[in-house]
Amino acid sequence: MDLSKKAKQISPSQTLAITAKAKELKSKGLDVVSFGAGEPDFDTPDHIKEAAIKAINEGFTKYTPASGINELKQAVCNKLKVENGLDYNIDQVLISNGAKHSLFNTFLAILEEGDEVIIPVPYWVSYPEIVKIAGGVPIYTYLVEDDNFKLNVDDLQSKITDKTKAIILNFPNNPTGNIITKEELTAIAEIALENNLYIISDEIYEKIIYDGNKHLSIATLGEEIKDHTILINGVSKTYSMTGWRIGYAVGNSNIIKAMSSIQSHTTSNPNSIAQKAALAALTGNQNQVDLMVKEFARRRDHMVKKINNMQGIKCNKPLGAFYVFADISQLFGTSIDNQEITNSIEFCKALIEKGEVAVIPGAAFGADNYIRISYATSLENIIKGLDKIEIFINNLK
Ligand SMILES: *Cc1c(COP(=O)(O)O)cnc(C)c1O
Repeated sequence: MDLSKKAKQISPSQTLAITAKAKELKSKGLDVVSFGAGEPDFDTPDHIKEAAIKAINEGFTKYTPASGINELKQAVCNKLKVENGLDYNIDQVLISNGAKHSLFNTFLAILEEGDEVIIPVPYWVSYPEIVKIAGGVPIYTYLVEDDNFKLNVDDLQSKITDKTKAIILNFPNNPTGNIITKEELTAIAEIALENNLYIISDEIYEKIIYDGNKHLSIATLGEEIKDHTILINGVSKTYSMTGWRIGYAVGNSNIIKAMSSIQSHTTSNPNSIAQKAALAALTGNQNQVDLMVKEFARRRDHMVKKINNMQGIKCNKPLGAFYVFADISQLFGTSIDNQEITNSIEFCKALIEKGEVAVIPGAAFGADNYIRISYATSLENIIKGLDKIEIFINNLK
């Protein structure tokens, strides 16, 4: 069976093998602790669920405009105005089936075959694949932990060619938990404007930020850079709504119009009921977001302290999102039951089989010296799982 060139260059998700293994071992009765989660463990708040139930009961169950309902677009504009100080009108908003879909629409709308997109490494797993599906070529700029995973402006500059079309930014970052300062954003904005590049700014973890830090969008740095930015956000992470599938993109109205046309022929409108739920999320009480973030911070503190007290593994304190990105490279070359560990995938395989803990290998994010440990699980699980990791590491020879 012949597959398209496009299909052939898409890698399977490296996280799926671990998730499948965790399920298999659990079903055999093993007490596996999973730190794989890429979503909040909290329930969707009640007032949001109620808005969805109301929508169903009122018969709001038909097609909506393909780009989303105006009420929700207006709520997005209001949110951006009040919380981010950004002025957009509803012609500059596209509601999609999750932020991932917003990213797809974006790259399908802006990339010519062979156009290059600069992606900082470590990256969120789907960026390179989305760029490739849209005909683009991912170009990587490597960030190092010694430099706090900060974007290196000189390296970024050196990656720009006459084919470069866009730079992806993701702050707070999945997987590193890093955030970005105004000075750094200013330097990136200058490069983008000098070279006429788009900035694709994935701000899905905007609200999950700690220690009094505030999220800053690159689009706030001036009208010109705002016009070059496609800002991506959604309700999945902030409101524990991953399954509802609502995300949005805002930007230059011509691009948004093109993206809307693409969406109108692929998925049509995002789920009508979920749009009403997202409207309730954006316009309703925000208390539960604050409570969730406080709880995440408590878990993070526990996790970071415990990990840095262990041998052979270390991590920075993440300032946002809900992952610890821990360096395990000191453990490469060790073995367990004659099974050698030489990379993050082998480490994760051994950890789940011999240690009963599931984590995501850094290789999935382009950073093989690391593992991603999610703290979107109860403190009780965190304590238990970290004890298991410690025992596993102590058993390595
Ligand atoms: C979870 C996640 C998304 C996707 O969010 P959806 O709205 O659920 O599609 C996008 N970007 C990053 C970095 C994420 O972690």
